[in-house]
Amino acid sequence: MTNVTAKNLINGEWVGAQDGAMGTSRNPANQEAIGSFPASGLADAKAAIAAAAAAFELPNWAQNPRLRQLVMLRWADRLEQRAEYLAQLLTRENGKVIAQSRGELIGAVSEIRYYAGLTRYIPGHAFEVEPGVYSTMIKEPAGVAGIIVPWNAPVVLLIRSLTPALCAGCTTVIKPAPQTALITYEVLRDLHEAQGLPPGVLNLVSETGHAVAQELVASPDVSVISFTGSNATGARIMADAAPTMKKLSLELGGKSCCLVFPDADPSVVAPALAQAAVIISGQQCTAARRILVHGSRYDEMKAALTQSFKDLRVGFGEAAGMHMGPLIDTTAVRHVQERVQMALDTCDEVILKGGRLGGDLQAGNFLAPTLVAHRDTGAFFCQEEIFGPFVVLERFEDEKEAVARTNHTEYGLSASVWTNDGARAMRVSRAIRSGTIWINDHNKLFAEAETGGYRKSGIGRLHGYDALVDFLEIKHIYQNAGVV
Ligand code: NAD
Repeated sequence: MTNVTAKNLINGEWVGAQDGAMGTSRNPANQEAIGSFPASGLADAKAAIAAAAAAFELPNWAQNPRLRQLVMLRWADRLEQRAEYLAQLLTRENGKVIAQSRGELIGAVSEIRYYAGLTRYIPGHAFEVEPGVYSTMIKEPAGVAGIIVPWNAPVVLLIRSLTPALCAGCTTVIKPAPQTALITYEVLRDLHEAQGLPPGVLNLVSETGHAVAQELVASPDVSVISFTGSNATGARIMADAAPTMKKLSLELGGKSCCLVFPDADPSVVAPALAQAAVIISGQQCTAARRILVHGSRYDEMKAALTQSFKDLRVGFGEAAGMHMGPLIDTTAVRHVQERVQMALDTCDEVILKGGRLGGDLQAGNFLAPTLVAHRDTGAFFCQEEIFGPFVVLERFEDEKEAVARTNHTEYGLSASVWTNDGARAMRVSRAIRSGTIWINDHNKLFAEAETGGYRKSGIGRLHGYDALVDFLEIKHIYQNAGVV
């Protein structure tokens, strides 16, 4: 695969940063440079916002759902045709195993088609308030949407914000994560080339720092920010957006608990949870982080989980049959290693100690999984999102304790419940304060089903019809028509 030279897209033209600066993207499996992208600054951000604001004033996108549908369907077709190339590039830039990259592309194409359909069904309502007095409520696109994307699932997380924004009729400026600027560029190239997209509707500005993202958040010409990323950045965005009172969609961190009840079979649940923990090398917001097991099956589950983690294959993402690739960069490895070491020093029991891998994998950011057992849910490693392959095993004696342990968190993104007792599954799901609960599965996300966080895990929902809410305004038009 040849190296990629990405560009910015401003008002329908591919351009470099105004000062010509470039950043480098590296393969996390071996640190090799795989391409470059514009290291943009404030002037580039302002140009992109101006283009999006001007395009929003024209009727040919914001008021034209049929065109929006056509363009999105054409884009989905183009992505589907190039899916294998894009999946390979995604693995090369992010490190995730190729099966996960292929799955991400399939999910993205499916999501674009889902929103292509919805764009022709954004109804308002009308009613007669008094004799001859009519109130019409119409849904309008909110304006320019700034979309700030993280590196961990850069295709699907881009699509799940961008497609509802476009579907609603917004115009957009996208700011990719510097670690995955190349795949973002390639995915958007297909949209740009889809016949019918008016100039200025889609703008892309990459950067190595944060000046572009901060301008999107601060600018009075941007009406919505859709951000997926860490809690620290999400909190900063919320504060920085306050003066312009923007609509905010914030999809932030999590610390998912998995509750395993006595009737669940450890030989089935343990391998499923081990894989749910190391998805994208543990760098997924919904990854399994705390596994809570009923006392009667605790020893059995501990043995099965240990074996399942040992069975996981860690290696180059392109190789067949791998479960886990490298972490995103050396900073991430250093940070995760530090937090895991502190956990190892203070936990009740070290079950499996991970660490850096040698041999062929030495040059890459590979880290084997760690499993510890602990009782006190107040421990920092039961509370903090450690964004890597690290899992805590806990024990509970009854349903009430399982729920209390699960709800002892500032997060509320996702959890899973493992039991064949349907009434228990429903009771426990209702009691957990979290945006998503899976019963007898984990990490199942798809276009039709809204996802988002309670508490510190965020604001708003993406996926599904309700994702449109963040990108729409509701207007009341009053008419005193009189009576005949
Ligand atoms: P991050 O917050 O460091 O970066 C995310 C994006 O924000 C990047 O594009 C980055 O360049 C940009 N950014 C950084 N500083 C900024 C600032 N001051 N103002 C505006 N933008 C800024 O997050 P990350 O490390 O890239 O991603 C991992 C985090 O994302 C984890 O916490 C994970 O749980 C979370 N996440 C959440 C979901 C979800 O659906 N809730 C999905 C995926 C990832």
